[in-house]
Amino acid sequence: NLNGEDELQMAIGSDKNATKQSCKVAVIGAGAAGLVAARELQREGHEVVVYEEGEKVGGVWLYNSDVEDDPLGLDPNRCSVHSSMYASLRTNLPRELMGYLDYPFLPREGRDVRRFPRHEEVASYLQDFAEEFNLLLLVKFCTKVEYVGIYRGDGNTEADIVNDSSFKQQLLREGCEDLREDSANLETRWVVRTRERRQAVEKERDVLNFATGCEDQVTDVIFDAVVICNGHYSQPRVAWIPGLEKWPGKQMHSHNYRIAEPFRDKVELVTEDGTVHFQDGISCHVDVILHCTGSWEEVGSGEERKKASLKSLGTRRYLYSFPFLDTHGIVTVENSAVGPLFEHVFPPLLAPSLSFVGLPFKVVPFPLFELQSKWIACILSKSSSLPSTKDMMADVQSFEVRLAEEGIPKHYTHNLDSCQFEYDNWLAAQCGSEPIESWRIKMYKVAQKIRKLYPDSYRDIWDDYDLLDEAQSYLLKLKT
Ligand code: FAD
Repeated sequence: NLNGEDELQMAIGSDKNATKQSCKVAVIGAGAAGLVAARELQREGHEVVVYEEGEKVGGVWLYNSDVEDDPLGLDPNRCSVHSSMYASLRTNLPRELMGYLDYPFLPREGRDVRRFPRHEEVASYLQDFAEEFNLLLLVKFCTKVEYVGIYRGDGNTEADIVNDSSFKQQLLREGCEDLREDSANLETRWVVRTRERRQAVEKERDVLNFATGCEDQVTDVIFDAVVICNGHYSQPRVAWIPGLEKWPGKQMHSHNYRIAEPFRDKVELVTEDGTVHFQDGISCHVDVILHCTGSWEEVGSGEERKKASLKSLGTRRYLYSFPFLDTHGIVTVENSAVGPLFEHVFPPLLAPSLSFVGLPFKVVPFPLFELQSKWIACILSKSSSLPSTKDMMADVQSFEVRLAEEGIPKHYTHNLDSCQFEYDNWLAAQCGSEPIESWRIKMYKVAQKIRKLYPDSYRDIWDDYDLLDEAQSYLLKLKT
């Protein structure tokens, strides 16, 4: 029984849908970012394939007791393990904040119902999310993306894959004037080369059946757009300390820390060898150096270090890494900054067909991933539009100038911290979504304060009861 207004709204809705453009999109990674990207892209009418190297969804939240054979993670040929999760980890954000905006992370009977649950609970939440929105059907598991490059051919042959710098030169020659339209005309598409790992059991079956073809399967597929969601907590960033190369003790990066047991009885005994000298004059012998910080060297001069520490900016423990991505130098990673990127998502010269979800750090990640994904989905469907390439480039440049003027080192480019909610709301506005609820912002500030005051007990003792009531009634209503 529709009334006139309902009918009008439906007509407007279907009219909007009719003008939407649908793209074939590859999403790389099925962690928290890739899952919500897949949902938003599908909701917006795109055809989505998610490539996931692992066997399950969840990314870093899938605890893996295996560690890499190089504990510092420096050897490029080491056997790699994606997750940096350690066994005893409980979340550092309350569950009311952690969940996606429209899929609350509520306690479930028989599971870890605490406000700051253990990592298994987050993995289960992500699995629930994937099932709820039928995302598992979109994911190609055990399939590693090995190469992503610009494709400009008509056919499906190797020769069509652009393997020289002509594309970049063409873009640069044409200048930034109306380049958006030009690149749209060029219809930049992408070739995605994947390697599907054959399961050991399948291989065994093949051998038993004397079947051939039990090799990994390598496939090239052409996409209109690629959304990169490969995470950035896997590639260790190791602190450089003078004299370290001669130090005889054991070293590892926190990426390879799993349990505390191997460190039992390891003390700071002063001995004749293996001594470590600290800045404040204290020296001692240590058994193990566990690298949990980035390198100060990258921060730059002493003055820059001072400014950075005065601003109490977090140091990144990991490097951004996109070993599969070939953009002929259009997108680079320098000093832990991926760029040039408009609003941490789109490289202006390759927008909108290439985008990144999840680069910002010191944020509430899942809602931010969700809003970035909504924005990408709307831009690809042409429900929303980007500024011209020239304007995006100008925006990136003025952002860089601002960072430099404020003495913020380049590797804090993606550190959003206090401006994260402003950023979230900007993204929401781009796709006509509601701004972040005010209780979330207040709860985040309180959570940060309590964590600083009580680093050992903040997960079990808190006093934001009013906010908690407000959040719980909001989230429960959302669920029903
Ligand atoms: P990931 O979870 O890393 O997912 C990336 C996925 O991409 C993985 O599944 C990987 O297998 C896949 N992949 C990578 N390369 C390829 C390839 N070439 N081909 C195919 N697949 C590929 N956040 C919080 O909100 N609260 C917390 O308490 C919290 N604690 C954390 C504790 C630790 C130890 C770490 C490391 C992170 C923590 N985080 C926390 C941040 C966490 O990283 C984010 O919450 C979020 O889960 C990151 O999701 P992602 O999808 O960006 O990356």
